[in-house]
Amino acid sequence: MLNIVLFGPPGAGKGTQSERLIEKYGLVHLSTGDVFRANIKGETDLGKLAKSYMDAGQLVPDEVTINMLRSEVVQHSAPKGFIFDGFPRTNAQAQALDEFLASLSTEISLMLALEVEETELKTRLLKRAEVSGRPDDADPAVIEKRIAVYNQETAPVKAFYQAQHKFVAIDGIGSIDEITQRLFSAIDTNH
Ligand code: AMP
Repeated sequence: MLNIVLFGPPGAGKGTQSERLIEKYGLVHLSTGDVFRANIKGETDLGKLAKSYMDAGQLVPDEVTINMLRSEVVQHSAPKGFIFDGFPRTNAQAQALDEFLASLSTEISLMLALEVEETELKTRLLKRAEVSGRPDDADPAVIEKRIAVYNQETAPVKAFYQAQHKFVAIDGIGSIDEITQRLFSAIDTNH
């Protein structure tokens, strides 16, 4: 299996690039943010719980997120692999993912980390708000909070995969096509 963690701060282009990767490699796309948003739309208990954290730019608690992720993964029989988009966001999530994948006799192949500097992220998120309808994109204070949470809690997850020699940094500045090509060549040379 080819299991990729597509990593990067909010606004780095994970969702856009995921679409390109699933098309080329036939992977299942698993975005925890998308699953939470679907639950909010469906007014489920999980959605109600997640919304309070998401609207504030905070992380949904690990236990809730990990359980949700596990139940999403097992819905797919004989997948070619997964692209994890927006997960793991904490070291506890990364650890839990490793253990869970090991129980399924597989593992993470690669973490691809899109690197984009902060001023560019803020510009992209405010622009995305015009079309995404996401309340967490429209409020500059919430954007600040999401970037701060990324720097404090999520960026350290890089070291988790660096220690396993699975980490590849990708320049996330350029045209969508250019960045896609960088991701393709990182996968093809490292897998
Ligand atoms: P995203 O669509 O990846 O930008 O995620 C939107 C929001 O969903 C985040 O700001 C968090 O509140 C929540 N979320 C998504 N993925 C996770 C995760 N792995 N752990 C905790 N919270 C998450």
